Amino acid sequence: MGRVITLDGVSGSGKSSTARELARVLGYAYLDTGAMYRALTWSLLQNGCDVHVEADVCRYVERGMDFSFRSGELLYFGRPLSDAIHHQEVSQHVAVLSRYSCVRREMISQQRKLALQAEQGLVAEGRDMGTVVFPEADLKVFMEASLELRGSRRQKQWEKKGVQVSKEDIMKDLAARDEMDTNRTQSPLRKAKDARVLDTSSLNFKEQVDQILRWVCED
Ligand code: C5P
Repeated sequence: MGRVITLDGVSGSGKSSTARELARVLGYAYLDTGAMYRALTWSLLQNGCDVHVEADVCRYVERGMDFSFRSGELLYFGRPLSDAIHHQEVSQHVAVLSRYSCVRREMISQQRKLALQAEQGLVAEGRDMGTVVFPEADLKVFMEASLELRGSRRQKQWEKKGVQVSKEDIMKDLAARDEMDTNRTQSPLRKAKDARVLDTSSLNFKEQVDQILRWVCED
């Protein structure tokens, strides 16, 4: 396994775009672990499973999950992830099942398996990358930004895709997920003791990436 950089933080703090760009610049693989939880949620909803019933979710998960990389792209059961994993319905349910220990156990094992395939290095983003999944990471970053700003950023992302969603609804969804992700018992969202904090409220995208690249060089 090559060098590992972890990016954790609240929903909408800019982790995905920053992690993707870092991975591109460094020539590392990019692991979007939120997409893994979303892919599972999407397939459960497709199969009519009630994600609030932990036993049903665990039965589904115990049948096996299969994530892999193909030329740097994350696949679920051999297929690329569809845009549907970012739909509102998935966003509203994902934090429910990501509290279950059967889900986290299997995800952690899949994430470590994927890291072994990333020989050049890995940029892994999520909620528990620096605290639980890769505690020995070479660099850990914890990203923060105000709820207001995160709401505006998300709204702009949706607008670019031609979807109108009210900022209030987006902020409500982000706050609800922050609350569930921070207060769960299994792998709650926490800053690792040895993580560097990056508050993106007053930084533009290039400044965020440049700051992390400086930390990469320092380490
Ligand atoms: O990062 P993203 O917003 O796509 O993540 C969606 C959800 O997946 C989070 O709100 C959280 O409930 C869950 N998640 C998690 N642990 C991770 C990554 C995501 O619990 N490492």
